[in-house]
Amino acid sequence: MKELQMVDLRSQYERIGAEINDAIQSVLKSAAFIKGPEVKLFEEELQRYLGVKHVITCANGTDALQIAMMALGLKPGDEVITTNFTFIATVEVVALLGLKPILVEPEEGSFNISAAGIKKAITPRTKAIVPVHLFGQCASMEDIAKIAVEHNLFIIEDTAQATGAACFFSDGKPRKAGTIGDIGTTSFFPSKNLGCYGDGGALLTDNDNLAAKIRSISNHGMKVRYYHDDIGVNSRLDTIQAAVLRVKLKYLDSFNRSRLEAADYYDRAFMNCPEIIIPERIKYSSHIFHQYTLKIRNNRRNELKEYLGKLNIPSMIYYPVPLSVQKAFSFMGYKEGDFPVTEKLCTEVISLPMHPDLDKEQLEYITNGVLKFFEKR
Ligand SMILES: *Cc1c(COP(=O)(O)O)cnc(C)c1O
Repeated sequence: MKELQMVDLRSQYERIGAEINDAIQSVLKSAAFIKGPEVKLFEEELQRYLGVKHVITCANGTDALQIAMMALGLKPGDEVITTNFTFIATVEVVALLGLKPILVEPEEGSFNISAAGIKKAITPRTKAIVPVHLFGQCASMEDIAKIAVEHNLFIIEDTAQATGAACFFSDGKPRKAGTIGDIGTTSFFPSKNLGCYGDGGALLTDNDNLAAKIRSISNHGMKVRYYHDDIGVNSRLDTIQAAVLRVKLKYLDSFNRSRLEAADYYDRAFMNCPEIIIPERIKYSSHIFHQYTLKIRNNRRNELKEYLGKLNIPSMIYYPVPLSVQKAFSFMGYKEGDFPVTEKLCTEVISLPMHPDLDKEQLEYITNGVLKFFEKR
């Protein structure tokens, strides 16, 4: 059997390596390492794929979030509502800019921020909502967009885990994750569904003025060279990464379909095991399975993880600690017990290997391993 990994980038490279090599070679020959033609071409191709007017690439997904908040003109003290169950980047940049993070519980089923929770957290100082499309499934964007209109709030969608997922609105029209709010941000970290071979990120928007502001801020606040209109940052996608991403974008839908097939296999294997809760598939979103995340009942999650480790089956806990009780965020004044849903999820979740190159033999080995754990007593 091929060696099991959470994300198998080596097998992927074996599959598409020839094309990748050509793409990188051509950048090496042109020596246009920064702002080479591939960067603009990739931005245009991603615009077409997502159906969004502007894609502005940057150095990583964390920068994308920071640049989005700067471009919207958020000021110290402004409150930004986001989920307590996410990767730290989302909240880190809020704090870095002197804004006030207000954390909200996720829904236990979808893992995504609760719209009802957002409503309750709004104060006169609230300026923005940052929904995260966690594990490959969209947050309830139609509800969230309504709340934002009612209260005159900005929406920044953190799409790092859901590039390519579609959100279905009641008008029946699908909208791609990241293209619904004022700004969408994403990451091309190697393990993401659309990943490069290093760091990379992008911002998405339909708004011309915001797009111009984002371009300026991500390039030292300059529109005309050496004339600086905004306080900016230096955050670019380099040309080699853009060339890699142009190749990988062509495969994104087929890779996402392979992930879905693996998820279907897992679901079928686990659905009748009473101690396992398979991931909920919500009606208003497609699922591109950035992660395949189970919930384990009866406090046996850690024991299962250890058991799988002995069988050389990798697994990960996304996420083990709620942001509300992270040491770095103690200044926010939250304490244990404030977020019972998040705290429970952190003790129950476990993610299994998920990538487009999982084969039948591997899936069988993984699912048998998990089921064997629950059979033995
Ligand atoms: C990966 C990730 C980011 C950060 O992306 P980087 O490119 O690693 O900076 C932000 N938010 C979420 C939800 C992520 O999963």
